[in-house]
Amino acid sequence: MQKHYTGLIERYRDRLPVSASTRIISLAEGATPLIQLQNIPRMIGKDVEIYVKFEGLNPTGSFKDRGMTMAVTKAVEAGSQAIICASTGNTSASAAAYAARAGIKAFVLIPDGKIALGKLAQTLMYNATIIQINGNFDQGMELVKEVANHAPVSIVNSINPFRLEGQKTAAFEIVDELGFAPDYHCLPVGNAGNISAYWKGYNEYATDRVCGNRPVMCGYQAAGAAPFVAGHPIENPETVATAIRIGNPQSWDLAIAAQQESGGWFDKFTDQQILAAQKMLSQFEGIFCEPASAASLAGALYDLSTGKIPEGSKIVCTLTGNGIKDPEIAMQQCADAKPVTIEANLDAVKRAILDSM
Ligand SMILES: *Cc1c(COP(=O)(O)O)cnc(C)c1O
Repeated sequence: MQKHYTGLIERYRDRLPVSASTRIISLAEGATPLIQLQNIPRMIGKDVEIYVKFEGLNPTGSFKDRGMTMAVTKAVEAGSQAIICASTGNTSASAAAYAARAGIKAFVLIPDGKIALGKLAQTLMYNATIIQINGNFDQGMELVKEVANHAPVSIVNSINPFRLEGQKTAAFEIVDELGFAPDYHCLPVGNAGNISAYWKGYNEYATDRVCGNRPVMCGYQAAGAAPFVAGHPIENPETVATAIRIGNPQSWDLAIAAQQESGGWFDKFTDQQILAAQKMLSQFEGIFCEPASAASLAGALYDLSTGKIPEGSKIVCTLTGNGIKDPEIAMQQCADAKPVTIEANLDAVKRAILDSM
């Protein structure tokens, strides 16, 4: 009988820093679907294979769960009774869930008013202590780094190296499923932990000859929060894609290394372009990701249009989070698609259908 799936630590145990006696804190994260786009490549008239790794189908709805299962497992192993993070939303939801699972406390620092509704609701339900600051993510991050020296709490932001260990498994899953690494791997970049983690994962598999190639890493940012494109931190990052509203990325050096070693690049896209990609993916493929996630597809489509990514390429775009997390943006995106209101009789329903065929 096949053993039921218990999460990415069990699956990739021999490639992760756990021992036989480690108590694993897991919610069966990982093993997310890799979905090949069917309609969008045809619409843009390009002969390419585009796959999306839908990380929004993790237990709390974002890829953060991959890192959090490792970080919380190691915090508990070290005897920690509480974890803390700064967050634009998804890290706090994930930290809160894994703390609940472990039976420890979670403290989360969030920026004032700039957190998507679903992420806030989750974090409240998982019963974390939410500390809202009059400031942005970058300021919250600095405060968390300081307070960890003065209070008995473990930091579970991606500066915690166990986070990247967990997150690198997404690259393993892609190679295990395709049988090769893609030619290009596109993803949104905020704090830059994820692009660093994928690069680590691809490298480990290439070094151990699990696959013969490594992808070009393409990191995409929001125009108002694009420190990697600017080449320096940004003071007041602004974007509708709140998950990547970050001006001072903590994994700067690792991300630059991933870009340079892979022959990749960073680029930036306007909120309008990001939102258009989010809608396109929902409307034409049935895949609903959050705004930040859509930066990966916006970037891939743009680089395909200029030929920077050539036809014939195999591309993976990471969709970092689930669209349901940010209902307010979704409703704004569809402001013109108001439901029609009719009388409750057969004739009226029939007319409503025929009118919009
Ligand atoms: C955290 C997050 C990102 C950014 O990932 P980094 O590792 O900080 O670069 C992008 N999209 C979503 C949905 C996220 O939650």
